Amino acid sequence: VGSAPAASNPGSASSCYLVTTNAGQLLLECGHGAASKLQLYTHMDRISAILISHMHPDHFFDLVPLKYLIEQFGDRAIPLHLPPAGLEILERLAQSLGEKPSFWSRAYTIETYDPQDELEVSGLRITMCPARHFIPAWSLRLSNVASGMVLGYTSDTAPSDAVVRHLTGANLLLGEATLQRQTTPESDRGHLTGREVGELAARAGVHRLVITHFPHAEAEAILADARETSGMQCDLAIEGLEFRIE
Ligand SMILES: [Zn+2]
Ligand SMILES: [Zn+2]
Repeated sequence: VGSAPAASNPGSASSCYLVTTNAGQLLLECGHGAASKLQLYTHMDRISAILISHMHPDHFFDLVPLKYLIEQFGDRAIPLHLPPAGLEILERLAQSLGEKPSFWSRAYTIETYDPQDELEVSGLRITMCPARHFIPAWSLRLSNVASGMVLGYTSDTAPSDAVVRHLTGANLLLGEATLQRQTTPESDRGHLTGREVGELAARAGVHRLVITHFPHAEAEAILADARETSGMQCDLAIEGLEFRIE
């Protein structure tokens, strides 16, 4: 639905993905611009759950317009799985907008996940691993309970051995590449380059890499770098593309 990083790409939304199984449809992330684009690909009644990997605006800000869409066009509140501290951030946001504490509750049934535990939603068993990011963020391993197929998702992260281990063997890796080149000090990093996401995919032995969270202007260079270091089939997560994992 959207694959832009924090700085919007022209005409597209930030992080937002639909993961569909036989048992349901998970909305993974809901970055700015997503609520508008989402309506091109699904209906509010079809979404069985929403999951947010971390509380940066490019991953959750469109929970606001999505709330109004669900209230208007949905038939029920949708379970919204937030990281620890997510609920407090949403409550403070509602308060700062001058809204009542009940602002979110008609659209969402909010649940805070414990990153140590398994989460089972929309026919997926999901485990989490701390990413290397500026705020607490979780890389996700989403296993289809029925088929055993695995989708790995880096979320936002700098290179991390723990993330490599967690996503090992995924059938498809949705990997972030926010940077074309690395200029920040190693201690102050929170993202991957094209070369690094390719290395991560190769080390984790995944079958296929789909690159996301990339700046529009550098997309082709990032893709070329990732192809070189991963040596595997790589694609850009362009809005509207659908990948079947089977
Ligand atoms: Zn982000
Ligand atoms: Zn982030």
